[in-house]
Amino acid sequence: MNPAYIWAAYFFAIGSAIGSFLNVVIYRQPRGESVVSPGSHCYACKQPIRWYHNIPIASYLILRGKCANCGAPFSPRYMLVELLTGLLFAACLLRFGLNGPAFVYMLLCAALVAVFFIDLDHFLIPDVITLPGMAAGLICALFVLPLSMMDATLGFAAGFGIFFLLAVAVPGGMGGGDIKLMGMLGLFLGLKAVLITIFLASFIGAVIGLIGKLFLGKGSKIPFGPYLVAGALAALFFEREIIDIYLRLVMPR
Ligand SMILES: [Zn+2]
Repeated sequence: MNPAYIWAAYFFAIGSAIGSFLNVVIYRQPRGESVVSPGSHCYACKQPIRWYHNIPIASYLILRGKCANCGAPFSPRYMLVELLTGLLFAACLLRFGLNGPAFVYMLLCAALVAVFFIDLDHFLIPDVITLPGMAAGLICALFVLPLSMMDATLGFAAGFGIFFLLAVAVPGGMGGGDIKLMGMLGLFLGLKAVLITIFLASFIGAVIGLIGKLFLGKGSKIPFGPYLVAGALAALFFEREIIDIYLRLVMPR
């Protein structure tokens, strides 16, 4: 068996455990609660959740999504976040190998999962993720990532700059959180990936907005952050493929 798959399984397990922590962050950070204490407890009976009832994914399935103590149902989203983070970690390993850049991208994916769900729930992207994220992006671009300083700088300028101008031009459109998120993505991913992210996010946003209008009779009430996260993840894993498709469309042979 290809050893890469064994490593991928290993990092899936680590990723799902990180996802379990992200569930805590997603729930507590916007409410201003500590993400470390108290430990996980049932929202209904307030009983602490024992460690063997808190195994990512497995516990949710074994307990059928219910509290082991009182039987109150937990949202399937908890398991979804664990599954998604596990899959993203495994994908980073398989796509980039067992090396520094892959670890950086795993951390980036974890931050993006948190941004996705916090923005979806609360229409905000916390500074506590994007400001340290920008600092981390700069350091990683300098020392770890296969990205020239010029590319990271242009990525930052494009991401931060375009969204800043959009916010000025269309008041109430873009939030400050979106601007900082795009600056952070530019530092981690570089110019091309930032442009792909903006293009894909606008495209997916327009399609989902249209579907919402046609089938639900109203505009979508989804903030822009989740679309940016989806676009950024697509750009991270499929930058070359997306550019190839684009070139084939604009320059058919
Ligand atoms: Zn309970």
